Amino acid sequence: ETITVQELANRMAERGGEVIKSLMKMGVMATINQIIDADTAELVAQEFGHKVRRVAESDVELGMLGTDDKVEDLRPRCPVVTVMGHVDHGKTSLLDAIRQADVASGEAGGITQHIGAYQIEVPSGDKITFIDTPGHEAFTEMRARGANVTDIVILVVAADDGIMAQTVEAIRHARAAKVPVIVAVNKIDKPDADPQRVRTELLQHEIVVEDMGGDVQAIDVSALTKQGLDTLLEAIALQAEVLELKANPDRAATGVVIEAKVERGRGSVATVLVQRGTVRTGDVFVAGAEWGRVRALVNDRGEPSESAGPSEPIEVLGLQGTPTAGDDFVVVENESRAREIADYRQRLLREKSATAGARGTVEQMLSAIQSGEADELPLVIKTDVHGSLEAIRATLEKLETSVVKPRILHSAVGGISESDVSLAGASGGIIVGFNVRANPQAREMARRDGMEIRYYSIIYDLIDDVKALLTGMLAPEL
Ligand code: GDP
Repeated sequence: ETITVQELANRMAERGGEVIKSLMKMGVMATINQIIDADTAELVAQEFGHKVRRVAESDVELGMLGTDDKVEDLRPRCPVVTVMGHVDHGKTSLLDAIRQADVASGEAGGITQHIGAYQIEVPSGDKITFIDTPGHEAFTEMRARGANVTDIVILVVAADDGIMAQTVEAIRHARAAKVPVIVAVNKIDKPDADPQRVRTELLQHEIVVEDMGGDVQAIDVSALTKQGLDTLLEAIALQAEVLELKANPDRAATGVVIEAKVERGRGSVATVLVQRGTVRTGDVFVAGAEWGRVRALVNDRGEPSESAGPSEPIEVLGLQGTPTAGDDFVVVENESRAREIADYRQRLLREKSATAGARGTVEQMLSAIQSGEADELPLVIKTDVHGSLEAIRATLEKLETSVVKPRILHSAVGGISESDVSLAGASGGIIVGFNVRANPQAREMARRDGMEIRYYSIIYDLIDDVKALLTGMLAPEL
C-alpha cells in the first residue's frame, strides 16, 4: 500500500511543496514523484488536519483510481464556498442575493433549482460554487464523515447585532477545518449598523481583519440592498487565487454527495459536488454504500446536462438506493465492480450498526498516539468558572510531552452541548468537562458517535489524565 507524494498532495488538495516540507519535518526526504508508505502518508494527512479514513481492502483499488493525476494534468478549478454565521444574521438572504448576481443567467431565468449547491459566474468571468445549506451543522456533519468540500468559509455577521454565540461556533469550525474565512459584515443598510464594532469584536476571537493589520478580508454588505455584493464576490475570487485550487478534469469523476432524497417519478436523486474528473451520463458509480448508472444529469438551472467537472454541483439520477450527505461519489469501470463495492460497504454498515455505538474515534486516536502516528490530541474543554478554565489552559499549554501535543479546539465556561460534541467529533478529539455535565442531547450524540466525554472535579486529575492520553497510556473509558 503506497502512494506518491504528488498523489497525496492532490488528495488533500495541498501543494506538493507543502507536503514535502511536512515530510522533511518528520525526517523523511522525498521528491514529488517519490513513493511513500501508507503509514507515512497518514501521518502527513493528519499533519494537514485531514481526517484519515482507514480504507478496507475492497476500497483501496477504488481510491487508487486516482493515482495517475500528474501536475501537468491539473487545471484551475473554482472555489467551493460555505456560508456560516449566527441565526438571523442573513445567511439565507445573502445566498439568495448572490444567486441573483449570477451574470451567466441572462434572461434564461437563472438559478432556480435548489439542489443543495449552485454555481455562479461573476463579471470577471470567474466562477464560484456555493453550498446552499447555510450554517455549520451541515459543514460539521460532512467533515465528521471525512468529506472536506469547502475551500472558503463566508462568516456572516450582522452589523447591528455583532458577534453572537453561533458566530463564535462558526469561527471554531472553520478553524478546526483549517479553512480560510472571509467576513461578510451584513445589514449595513440598517440605521443602527456598526460595522467597525464587528471588526473590533472579531479581534477577541483571533480574527484580525485587513484594515486592522491582519490577513482576513472583511467586506461590508447588505443582502437587502445588494450593496457590497460585488466586492464580496471579488474577495472570494482573490482568496481563491491565493489558494491555487486545482484538479484534473480528464479522469473518472470523484466527488461528494451534498444532498440525497427520493422523489416521486424520479427515484433516488443525489446532488454531487464533483471534486476531480468529469462525470457523464452513462457512467457507473458508487455513492457511499449505494451504486448506480447515471441516467441523467441536471444542473442548478434545472437543465439537463451531459457532464459536470471539478467544483461543479450536479444532480445525478439513476441511483439504486439513497446515499447520505457526505458520502463519497466515485465513478468505477463497470457494474459488477460497483455492485461489489456497494455490497461490501452495505455489509460493513450492517456490522457497524450491530456493534452499536461506533466507539471509533477515541480508540483510533489512542492507537494512533500509541503507534506514534498522531502528534496532537484535539480537546474541547468546558468548565464551571473562568478561573479554572484559565488554569487548565495554562497548564495544558505548558505540557512538554515529546511528540504529542494537546490541541485545544475550543474552551469555554458552560455545560457540554451538542455543538461541543460535534466539534470534537469532526476532529477525532476528546471532550473534557470540569465541574460541568453534558446535556442529554449531547450525551446521546456522544454515545451514538462513540465520542468520549471525561468529567473531572480536580484539576490535577484532569491534567494527569491528559498527560496519560498524550503518551497513549490511558485506556478509553467508554
Ligand atoms: P439566516 O437565519 O442567517 O439565514 O438569516 P435570514 O437570511 O433568514 O435573514 C434574517 C432576517 O434578516 C430576515 O428578516 C431578512 O430579511 C433580514 N436581513 C437579511 N439581510 C439583511 C440586510 O442586509 N439588511 C436588512 N435590513 N435586513 C436583512
